[in-house]
Amino acid sequence: MSRAPAMKCPHCRANAWARTSRELSPLLREIYYQCSDVECGHTWVATLEASRTLSPSAKANPAISKTLPSSQWIPTLSTAPKPVLKGGTDDQPSLFDESASR
Ligand SMILES: [Zn+2]
Repeated sequence: MSRAPAMKCPHCRANAWARTSRELSPLLREIYYQCSDVECGHTWVATLEASRTLSPSAKANPAISKTLPSSQWIPTLSTAPKPVLKGGTDDQPSLFDESASR
C-alpha cells in the first residue's frame, strides 16, 4: 500500500504505514493505518473522499457527475479557513459545518 497518501500518527506524530484499504464507493475509500512507532502501536482507519471536480471528465459517468460537486464550491470553502488563520481562538469552526463560515 505504498501508493496510499502519507499520514502521521495522530497521537505520537510518527510516520504511519497504510496496511490495507477498501473501496466503499467510487467516491470514498477507507485506509487502515498503523503507527510505525512500536512503543505507540496505534492503528486507525482514515477515509479518502473525492470531494470536488476541478476539470470535467471526458468520459463522464452521469451518476458521478450528479454527486461530485464542481469547482464552483471553491469560493465558499476557501473563505472558511480565514477565521482559523487569523483567530487563534478556541471556538475554531468545524471544516464540515458550513454555518461556521459566516
Ligand atoms: Zn503513534
